[in-house]
Amino acid sequence: MNNRPPIPNEIKRAVRQRCGFGCVICGLPLYEYEHMEEWAIVQRHKEDEITLLCRMHHGMKTDGLLPVEEVRIANNDPYNKKVGVSKNVLMSYSGQDVSFYLGTSLFKLHGLQDGSFFTPLVVDGLPMVGFRVEQGKLLLNFIAFDESNKLILKIEDSELVYDTNQWDIEWIAQSLTIREGKGKILLQLKFDPPGIIRFVKGRVLRNGIELLVGKDYLFNTNNRNFFGSIHTENCGIGFSIGDPIPNGGVGVALSNINRYQFDRTEARKFLRKSLSDRRLTSQSTRTQ
Ligand SMILES: [Zn+2]
Repeated sequence: MNNRPPIPNEIKRAVRQRCGFGCVICGLPLYEYEHMEEWAIVQRHKEDEITLLCRMHHGMKTDGLLPVEEVRIANNDPYNKKVGVSKNVLMSYSGQDVSFYLGTSLFKLHGLQDGSFFTPLVVDGLPMVGFRVEQGKLLLNFIAFDESNKLILKIEDSELVYDTNQWDIEWIAQSLTIREGKGKILLQLKFDPPGIIRFVKGRVLRNGIELLVGKDYLFNTNNRNFFGSIHTENCGIGFSIGDPIPNGGVGVALSNINRYQFDRTEARKFLRKSLSDRRLTSQSTRTQ
């Protein structure tokens, strides 16, 4: 009998929020939606009858090794809600060839040597994304902040943890999305191991700096710098925003950022104009 309708998105989100964006038993961010009431009996999707379980705990429940009563207890007091951060997930990165996509911009490095670093994105001298090889092992590092400079997601030597005090965090297959509100994506990452990580869209935030990452553009709101695609290859540092500018081979650097006295509304208008100008230019080039 496979005519069960899908769980509506609004209900899924409410379940994620209530469960702290992870398995209610162990906190793992890789989870499935589980009906605590037998579907065959209730045949309905009700938010308070659904919980999150990781694959292991889901399997244990199905096999009768995890009583539903235990699940209900955990559902009333989810692991991540108690701790405030998710359980860590070890990402499987390996090899020596790495790529970081920021929208459609690409920062790439071949043949990363043992003991050396590749830092595709730096803000105010702080590596936001970094790869290094240690004893033949590729390690990914990544940090993201919210507008108030609070760390919301961290990947430290390939171990990912997030702050569960967010409006919404959704992990589906390779994509992890953090939302600030309905339709407002703060950060969307796509993991493509062994060597690729994509910052698909969102906002890079740090110390009053904002870099908007769109589908096919980058935009620094503070100084109204609009970029199509940037591409660097084998630069130890790909893109640096703010100060100090790191020493060594920096691909693209934006310095002297206007942090406080900038007009966000005017900047957004400028961005819309840049995007529509570019569309017009590409249309006229095509028709010529
Ligand atoms: Zn679990």
